[in-house]
Amino acid sequence: MSIFRANRKFDRFEDVTPEILREEKVKLLLCDLDNTLTSRLSKSPAEELGSWVKACQKAGTEIVVISNNVSKKRVQNFCTPFKLHCVWWAKKPLSVHLTKVRERLGVEPQYTVMMGDKWSTDILAAKFAGIRAWKVEHRKGFLKDEEKKEENGDSKK
Ligand SMILES: [Mg+2]
Repeated sequence: MSIFRANRKFDRFEDVTPEILREEKVKLLLCDLDNTLTSRLSKSPAEELGSWVKACQKAGTEIVVISNNVSKKRVQNFCTPFKLHCVWWAKKPLSVHLTKVRERLGVEPQYTVMMGDKWSTDILAAKFAGIRAWKVEHRKGFLKDEEKKEENGDSKK
């Protein structure tokens, strides 16, 4: 089996339902951030992310964000509102942070999944970590109106 092959594929993170998490016995879901939980363009979390996180947690699945983004501020921006643990500058496909988080939380590899949009980082890191890999489609998105204004310099300080 190719090390690039995902164990499951979904279109979007919202398609990973509490039922699926229970069926698949996922106690820990490690999630990529950019183009997985949000589009790369968005600067703040979409509302559906909050309700999805809550539903997963209710199903008994812990979520930790593991991002390659070097900006601590950006990663925390998406995680703090939902009190999610996060790792930035994770250097995937290195699996060191995936394993560190999993061991710290005391979850066995067979109950852990890494979900992300990129073969060369997320999927490979999961394989190196000896956990399952779930692939989502690259999340496209658009800037919200207020973000567009900011982008254009309308609200520059
Ligand atoms: Mg990504």
